[in-house]
Amino acid sequence: MPAMQPALIVHGGAGAIAPERLPLAEEGCRAAAAAGFAVLRAGGTALAAVIAATIALEDNPLYNAGTGAVLNIDGIAELDAGLMDGANLEVGAVLGLHRIKNPILLARAVLQSREVLLAGDGAERFARSQGLEFVDPAYFVEANRLRRMEVVGGGDGLVIQSTLDNPHEKHGTVGAVAVDRDGHFAAAASTGGYAGKPVGRVGDTPIAGAGFYAEDGAGAAACTGQGEYFIRMLIAQRVSAMMGQGVIAHTAAEQTIALVGDRLGGAGGLIVIDALGQVGWARNTPAMPYAYCRGDNIEPVSGS
Ligand code: ASP
Repeated sequence: MPAMQPALIVHGGAGAIAPERLPLAEEGCRAAAAAGFAVLRAGGTALAAVIAATIALEDNPLYNAGTGAVLNIDGIAELDAGLMDGANLEVGAVLGLHRIKNPILLARAVLQSREVLLAGDGAERFARSQGLEFVDPAYFVEANRLRRMEVVGGGDGLVIQSTLDNPHEKHGTVGAVAVDRDGHFAAAASTGGYAGKPVGRVGDTPIAGAGFYAEDGAGAAACTGQGEYFIRMLIAQRVSAMMGQGVIAHTAAEQTIALVGDRLGGAGGLIVIDALGQVGWARNTPAMPYAYCRGDNIEPVSGS
């Protein structure tokens, strides 16, 4: 296979973001894209690159993933993440985590194990055996307080304002997609879901084919938005299959997100890389911060 131009694109969540916050949201995406692309330029794999980019986003409290994860109706963060290696179609995904600082690292450990999907206590027990970093559940509550977003303090409990009913409400899930110079693809996604979600609710983010997908020779995708819709039409797999049939990144992304809106009435966005290594993105929400690097352009290009 001729050498491919490496490429990497990240997003910081589809939704409505106050205009004054957009520059910061894009800046965080540029930093994450640069971190992931440095891995590719050093000869690293697409899988290693999307993990590096996702860690940068999980560690940035601006986003609804890792440190900045929003809280469920009980005032507790429940984190989900998924990861796929397009070279061998291996998947690792985790859901319903309360105490893992970087869920994408646990997804990587699952990918390297015999399992594909690990949930809740069992996932955290496995994380312990892998020596991953734990935090107290209060860590996520504090991060929410600090950024004064969906959580309002009150009495002896917390009032969580749901962001479900307004499809254009801020989301902030993160995702990364990459192709390395050997033509291997990878995709990653990480989220806290939506604020005020019922306990135990899981969206598309840890579901392979729905929230993320990667397949060498076809393409890769990471999604964001109202996960219930992305699950029903297996959006990440669908857009990757389209690109596998020769539809270019931009067109495939636009057509697929139009389907989410027209067919299901769902809101969200996605980032993709097609079989030729071209990046694409689309959204039907007011904003979706993204950034990408490709080929010799090491300076990330961003937008929202
Ligand atoms: N897709 C995520 C979920 O449904 C949320 C988001 O992307 O904003 O959990």
